[in-house]
Amino acid sequence: MSPTVPRIVMKFGGTSVADLDRIRAVAEKVRKQVEAGCEVAVVVSAMSGVTNRLVGYCRDLSATHDEREYDAVVSTGEQVTSGLLAIALQKLGINARSWLGWQIPLRTDNAHGKARIESIDGTALIESMRAGQVPVVAGFQGIGADGRITTLGRGGSDTSAVALAAALKADRCDIYTDVDGIYTTDPRIVTKARKLDRITYEEMLELASVGAKVLQTRSVELAMKERVRVQVLSSFTDGPAPSEGHLPGSLVVDEDEIVEQEQVAGIAYSRDEAKVSVRQLPDRPGIAAAVFGPLADANVNVDMIVQSTGDDGMTNMTFTVGKTDLARAISVLESTHATTQYAELQTDDSVAKISVVGVGMRSHAGVASTMFRTLAERNINVQVISTSEIKVSVLIAAEYTELAVRALHAAYGLDAA
Ligand code: ADP
Ligand code: ASP
Ligand code: MG
Repeated sequence: MSPTVPRIVMKFGGTSVADLDRIRAVAEKVRKQVEAGCEVAVVVSAMSGVTNRLVGYCRDLSATHDEREYDAVVSTGEQVTSGLLAIALQKLGINARSWLGWQIPLRTDNAHGKARIESIDGTALIESMRAGQVPVVAGFQGIGADGRITTLGRGGSDTSAVALAAALKADRCDIYTDVDGIYTTDPRIVTKARKLDRITYEEMLELASVGAKVLQTRSVELAMKERVRVQVLSSFTDGPAPSEGHLPGSLVVDEDEIVEQEQVAGIAYSRDEAKVSVRQLPDRPGIAAAVFGPLADANVNVDMIVQSTGDDGMTNMTFTVGKTDLARAISVLESTHATTQYAELQTDDSVAKISVVGVGMRSHAGVASTMFRTLAERNINVQVISTSEIKVSVLIAAEYTELAVRALHAAYGLDAA
């Protein structure tokens, strides 16, 4: 290969491959890059709605289904689109071939349902690209050490794409989706959201981890670690003309590439968590470990945590878990009752976590108090709070999600003019 041939990974999300017309349009986008002289590897998601349906089938059969079988089922959506896009590309005269996770192979750990990528052998893919072929990789899936298909957690095709870009030493990883970039908040709920030409890895990582679905958290983590240049673009439009002075999409970059740093870069929300309260636990050393240890052993991620202690030698623990882990969390907590001896277990899945994120918070005080004041003015009750160096999150009733995000977006001066 001549060193001047650019190599890119193009990833297309669910809406971008939602039907055959969209798949044809994606094939045209790929053709453009091939004709421009790039070596291209493509990563696809399942057609929009398909993964939800497959997840629903598993859940309806059993709330505590075997995760290995869940992976066998939900990974199929991407198999379909990788084959269909390969056919669409072949129809345009492009030499294309579908690749499943095990064929690459893309190896993961055995955490079925939310597996982590351990290694990607890029040899066969690079050979195929050098031979003029366009590999169309099924995103979201890999092969575990147990030899079975694994999936990478919801939104995992982003991570497949970034990991592949790193393994193939690609010059860029272009994530094509249904919005034209990364915005100050979800443009679908705040019409005044502004597109960011650039955002730091750190802020994008934090925004993704608190619910901004535009990129999966692990994809940003990996991009940051492997120095992959990630760009988010619309698969529907070609973006504004260069003369308008803006990038067509959004680039995820290092902090020193950002000229003006705002106090708050963005706001995210998540309705994917549920609140769990374990009430009236004996207040003794080791009680937190007795509650959270078994949850960790069962692969249940716990997020926000508060412990409130009364005068009666008892304590309450309130925390959040992913909604999809709620049934598992309850059954784990019930099985610990002999040691934890709690009086009551309460759950609430009508909650939303609202987070404000910005590296500017390190040097500006008052971000949290602005958040609390703004929510108080709207009469929105804060149930749990958690903070990190560049983030403040609150848990509120789900019905106030839009109201809270819009009010905060205005309060931090993020609204578009
Ligand atoms: P895909 O299927 O292409 O992976 P996703 O639905 O996973 O697409 O992610 C794109 C969606 O992310 C957008 O449609 C938008 O509603 C949502 N989103 C949430 N926060 C943001 C944000 N800050 N900027 C852009 N999009 C966001
Ligand atoms: N199809 C998978 C999902 O819906 C993976 C992805 O879209 O990235 O979560
Ligand atoms: Mg996605």
